[in-house]
Amino acid sequence: MKILPELKNYSEYFPPEHEFDGDGVFFNYIGANSMLIRDRKSSIMIDPYFSRPGRIVGLRYFVKKVEPNPTAIADALKKLGVEKIDAIMLTHTHADHALDAPEVAKQTSATLYGSHSAMLIGKGGGMRDDKLFEVADKTRIDIGDFRITFYESVHLPFPRVARPILNSKTEIDDPLEPPVRIAEYREGGWFKMLIEHPCGTLHISSSGIDSNPAVIKADAVAITIGGLGLRTEKYRELLFEKSILIPQAKTIYMTHWDKMANPLDQKPEFLGRTHMVVNHFIEMASRHKDLSIYLPIPWQTLRLFPPKETRK
Ligand SMILES: [Zn+2]
Repeated sequence: MKILPELKNYSEYFPPEHEFDGDGVFFNYIGANSMLIRDRKSSIMIDPYFSRPGRIVGLRYFVKKVEPNPTAIADALKKLGVEKIDAIMLTHTHADHALDAPEVAKQTSATLYGSHSAMLIGKGGGMRDDKLFEVADKTRIDIGDFRITFYESVHLPFPRVARPILNSKTEIDDPLEPPVRIAEYREGGWFKMLIEHPCGTLHISSSGIDSNPAVIKADAVAITIGGLGLRTEKYRELLFEKSILIPQAKTIYMTHWDKMANPLDQKPEFLGRTHMVVNHFIEMASRHKDLSIYLPIPWQTLRLFPPKETRK
């Protein structure tokens, strides 16, 4: 059995914790690509995924039937200290990004924003039409002081071994009523997002290399690194350049590094080969002064941007 390096070896890259006090913009990483972004007035959740099926070996993952677990979701929201969420935004509709969107929306009165496939997940999950908002390339949405722009991007290419079991179709065609197989949560297209706020700008980046010419300038980047261990070093260098260096980001948060089937109350473990990706990203970041890189830990609250008047 492969022994993965202990997470504690990376403690110098854990971001400093900061209690939520409403001054500035706050960020919670919640495993996989789940994130909560909030200020004093508004809150946005990206890719909510709390109903984890437990350890599944190999390709059996894709045929496992899953459904949102309302208790796990209620517990997670309590732990985060949120009752109301304004917006849930989906990068794409694979299960580890979209499974819990309808149930979180129901428990927090949130509106769901995403692709056509995301709308069918919302419908199948029993959401009302007036809480579903389909987006396209360059759709812009204002939520309190946040302005979010969606840009079409692409998914990381799947390894060849997983392709036969994954439906070659990438869209969801009908309302998706769980429980359904993980493979039925088809990708539905990928949206990267620019989240602008008077205190700073965050780029929610894909790990696919897209050709969307949209120029994105951002202070910080949250980048999903799951699966990048299966790509070449050259691929990661190009991704780093497109997602981090071109937008001139100063801070990097690596997401989707944990084993995404494991329950969130267990100690997080690196997804296979992801420690290599973390090492490579740390090395790439070290070549640029003024670039900070962090490995956020699930549940930890951190301050993404301080209030404007105290910014350097
Ligand atoms: Zn995916």
